[in-house]
Amino acid sequence: MLFNIDDLKPLDSELELMLSAITTWANVNSGSWNVAGVTSVAEMLTQDFVKLDCQVTKYDLPKYKIVGMDGQEEEIPIGPLMKFTKRPDAAIQILLAGHIDTVFPETSLFQTVTQLRSNRLVGPGVVDMKGGLAIMLWALRQLERNKLAHNIGWTVVLTPDEEIGSIASGPVLTKLAKDFDLGLLYEPALDHNGTFAGARNGSGKFTIIAHGQAAHVGRDFAKGSNAIVAMAELLQKIVALNTKRKHIMINIGTISGGSAVNVVADICVCKLDIRLPTEADKLWLHEQLGLLTAKAISGVRFEISGGFYRPAKLLDNKQLQLFNFVKKLGLDLQQQINWQDTGGCCDGNNLASVGLRNIDTLGALGGGMHSDQEYLLINSLVPRAKLTLAILLAIANSGLPW
Ligand SMILES: [Zn+2]
Repeated sequence: MLFNIDDLKPLDSELELMLSAITTWANVNSGSWNVAGVTSVAEMLTQDFVKLDCQVTKYDLPKYKIVGMDGQEEEIPIGPLMKFTKRPDAAIQILLAGHIDTVFPETSLFQTVTQLRSNRLVGPGVVDMKGGLAIMLWALRQLERNKLAHNIGWTVVLTPDEEIGSIASGPVLTKLAKDFDLGLLYEPALDHNGTFAGARNGSGKFTIIAHGQAAHVGRDFAKGSNAIVAMAELLQKIVALNTKRKHIMINIGTISGGSAVNVVADICVCKLDIRLPTEADKLWLHEQLGLLTAKAISGVRFEISGGFYRPAKLLDNKQLQLFNFVKKLGLDLQQQINWQDTGGCCDGNNLASVGLRNIDTLGALGGGMHSDQEYLLINSLVPRAKLTLAILLAIANSGLPW
């Protein structure tokens, strides 16, 4: 065995403390746009990490530029990115990352944590990913009590905008990632068996604005150019791209247009979410969107903005080596480790894009993510903290396995 199983035992008595931390963090609304809430949870976590005698760095991130459903651009502030660094001079450096934000805005009715039955903690962000943050923190605490800890250095990065695509934190995270040997991320497991995400699709988000010509319906109907009608025609062509390549997904997410029922609509705004498995698909689709939106339809011109912020994550040999290493450690813990491809994406995509091998689903088990049914399986917390600790101790004990 690459680690001493007795070194993991102290975690057995930590469950109540983990639950209480998760409850405290999740009871504060930290929707991505709630700067005060995200900042307040970041401060609580800083108080916890600082006790590990690490160096704390706070990054203020640029505002998000968003095109609203009225076609107007807005700049919206987001919370800070936090970085905690321990032993930056050690030969082996491990990056642990997670996000503070949730998908639940301040206006959501889902704001508080409750315990449902003996094994379910229900609440906003309990599994995605306050539970994961607790797993990370408790594993690091236990590592720091171990004499092997000095063999490895670690850095924790907590981001404020993962749920809105990591547009501001992504560049910071990928720049940092280059200096590390391994990335561990705490997104929830894919299922109740703790399955890891294998390959992940890349993703892009785009906004299309159609600019037409307004006209009075009764008097000047023929002088108008209807932006809604033209957008509908364009979208048919865009949706048809779904059938042109395997495994690409273009979703027309939201649409809004027009000002009044007796006016020819001069504006229509539509937002698309795109998922695709390869870089070649990305280039192809980018080109297709450019070509389709370059041509006006019945006098209506189109404007497209946005981009692909998360490259696809491939299940290559480097990743497989890592999965197999962790699978072996899992056997020592009597945990069956499996992985499976998924259409979803996360910061693990960004780390992989700069060559950092990583497991991005080391967080808690649960379900109902992004809905008011979100729950965490309480009995997954200690085993998952043990798994992370086993990875850290195995590497501290015998170095990187590749
Ligand atoms: Zn998440």
